[in-house]
Amino acid sequence: MKNHSNFSAPALAIAAVAAFAFLSACGQREPDTRMQSFSWPTMGTVAEFTMRADGVTAERAQKLAANAFRLVETNLSVFVADSAVSRLNRGETIRLASDSPLANVARFARETAEASGDAFDPTVNPLMRAWGFRGGTPSIPSATTLSNALESVGWRRLSIGNAASGEIVISAGGAELDFGAIAKGYAVDLAYDRLVANGFTDFLINLGGNIRVCGSPESGRKDWNVAVRDPSGRRPPSPLPRPLRSGEAVATSGSYERFVEIDGRRYSHIIDPRTGIPVDNGLGSVSVIAPTAMEADAYSTTLFVLGREAGAAFLSTHHACTAVFIGQ
Ligand code: AMP
Ligand code: MG
Repeated sequence: MKNHSNFSAPALAIAAVAAFAFLSACGQREPDTRMQSFSWPTMGTVAEFTMRADGVTAERAQKLAANAFRLVETNLSVFVADSAVSRLNRGETIRLASDSPLANVARFARETAEASGDAFDPTVNPLMRAWGFRGGTPSIPSATTLSNALESVGWRRLSIGNAASGEIVISAGGAELDFGAIAKGYAVDLAYDRLVANGFTDFLINLGGNIRVCGSPESGRKDWNVAVRDPSGRRPPSPLPRPLRSGEAVATSGSYERFVEIDGRRYSHIIDPRTGIPVDNGLGSVSVIAPTAMEADAYSTTLFVLGREAGAAFLSTHHACTAVFIGQ
């Protein structure tokens, strides 16, 4: 039995590398000799940073991106014992700056949960555990285990209140927070914003399939072509319906990258919080093009749970996004 677990779990490197390799940019007709590429493990996955610049400039930019990822991991990982999220999960109430990583991610997770009609839920961790995604031997949970886990899931417990002077007060309300479906997208945006603020351009960031581009891949060309891996692995990667323009992001959620195997059957790491069962709706993956990587990340997970039909209704209220549904 295999257990490909989640965000920040150390065992994930291999699955993540596969996702990243197939989602790499293919924008250059002729390779630009000034294109510099870096890849390194972070946040339980693999980061790739590609930049059209001289070596020294690209290295400075890469360090800035790596620092942004570290900051997000320190704040949001459930595997870091004194991270803000771990403290919330231990029942603490925390006061923090309203533009801090946790505040941004928690607010957007709540907003997405509400808009998705409970398909997206940052408190699914007890269900992940029940199915064996957090260690132990994966097995089909008993009805009692499942209903106990379902009882402790619910994003409405997450409370975010305004405090004085640009701060917020946040508590998990007894729920167990895990921002694995959104934190990597936020980390990409944080890195992107810091790079742009420091004058860097012409780069692509890819954090485990969460991609955002800036500038252009070669002179005289505005767009970046990005291909999406075929979830079955039987067909070649397919290009997105349109290239990415500077500033845009794309993320992919799929059942193929992380799963548990029980009695020869694969169960997806994305669980429907309304039923407690891993998603099995015929989809292999969903990619979302969006103005920011956090939106792309949150919405690709959401659409994977909703499926094509309910997903189309969700998209009709999110005009800035384009989705690609691929069957198994
Ligand atoms: P992603 O790869 O961005 O689609 O995120 C998947 C991860 O988010 C899983 O590994 C879980 O940690 C978590 N997750 C699973 N199901 C859900 C869900 N319905 N809503 C929010 N997060 C989820
Ligand atoms: Mg996601």
